[in-house]
Amino acid sequence: MEQQNMEKYAQLVLQKGVNIQKNQPLVINAPIEGAYFVREMAKQAYALGAKEVHVNWADDTLTYLTYKHANEEVFQTYPKWKVMLQESYAEQGAAFVSIHATDPDLLQDVDPTRIAEANKSAGIALKTYREYIMNDKVCWTVISIPTTGWAKKVFPDVSEEEAIEKLWHEIMKMVRVDKEDPIAAWDAHNDLLKKANDYLNEKQYEKLVLKAEGTNLEVGLPKDHIWAGGVAISEDGTVFNPNMPTEEVFTAPHKYNVNGVVSSTKPLNYGGNVIDDFQLTFKDGMVVDYQAKQGEEVLKHLLESDDGAKRLGELALVPHESPISQSGLIFYNTLFDENASCHIALGKAYPTNVARGPEMDEAALDKNGINDSMVHVDFMIGSAEMNIDGVTADGKVEPIFKDGTWAVTFK
Ligand code: ZN
Ligand code: ZN
Repeated sequence: MEQQNMEKYAQLVLQKGVNIQKNQPLVINAPIEGAYFVREMAKQAYALGAKEVHVNWADDTLTYLTYKHANEEVFQTYPKWKVMLQESYAEQGAAFVSIHATDPDLLQDVDPTRIAEANKSAGIALKTYREYIMNDKVCWTVISIPTTGWAKKVFPDVSEEEAIEKLWHEIMKMVRVDKEDPIAAWDAHNDLLKKANDYLNEKQYEKLVLKAEGTNLEVGLPKDHIWAGGVAISEDGTVFNPNMPTEEVFTAPHKYNVNGVVSSTKPLNYGGNVIDDFQLTFKDGMVVDYQAKQGEEVLKHLLESDDGAKRLGELALVPHESPISQSGLIFYNTLFDENASCHIALGKAYPTNVARGPEMDEAALDKNGINDSMVHVDFMIGSAEMNIDGVTADGKVEPIFKDGTWAVTFK
């Protein structure tokens, strides 16, 4: 990785990702393997006027050892000080950068009950912090950098060093750092996504019908739903990009109005385990049947996380010719794979996907069809065969996607 590109990437994340402001604290969740990049980011954050940079380090090997050997109790609770740390930074209006780079196979020989318990404890404990993020009360972004375990999973046939170099190369391309002016490239890209959002928001389809091999799904949409994607705007009016890369426009499915069958088209890396080749059947918004060729036990735990985990929290449209899809690679990292393909998410919906959502209490969100859960897990359902129709309030059927890509042109 050339120094110059690393600087450009760090700048891009700070300026377009979280749009760091003068005197604002910055919190970075990072793999310790990526310390060189985190140091670069901290240096530039201070140059841009950040008040303080705090890093929560993680290490795959230590995570594995904990899951393998720690006392059972460790997974049934979540440290209070960790909750207080995140919440106190959120209260101060900090910006949050999360670097996702876990080895997809890290926890494959760990008892899935231990993982499910840990996810559940964290999910419950971090409820308030999650509200900050999912309502855009603060600026936040998810990015990736290569780590050895992950890079080797994507490029198993080359040396560790070469795998990391190759993955860096792909990431730089996907986040447009290979462009002369990455910031201008992101502005243009955000404009395009805005046009798609404007079109769909104007249409206010009552439901979308998704059809492909193994998929025939009707997804009802809440009244006054909002399509979003590209930039988001925080409570204090700061414009930021919550995901880098991002190619999707997304909204919230109606939690009580999803019917039919849907099949996955890419493997899902769920917290250190791979679930692959799976199918879900929905009735009145809820999963009533499921099967998976790989990781069925993990899928079962995911669906049983809480009541909301069996319902949908997101429907996202991504054209099959997106740059990530064009790469032909499977990244085993949702940030990348979800931007290669149309996807849906089990679990919590973003309240920002319905008009006045962030001001609604739990009962009002439920009444408006906005799902709640402590999980939000995206999985891929798109392919070159995917056709999607929109059904208007007066029953008119209009094509939105044909053969995996937009059937409409935006002005
Ligand atoms: Zn998404
Ligand atoms: Zn999502």
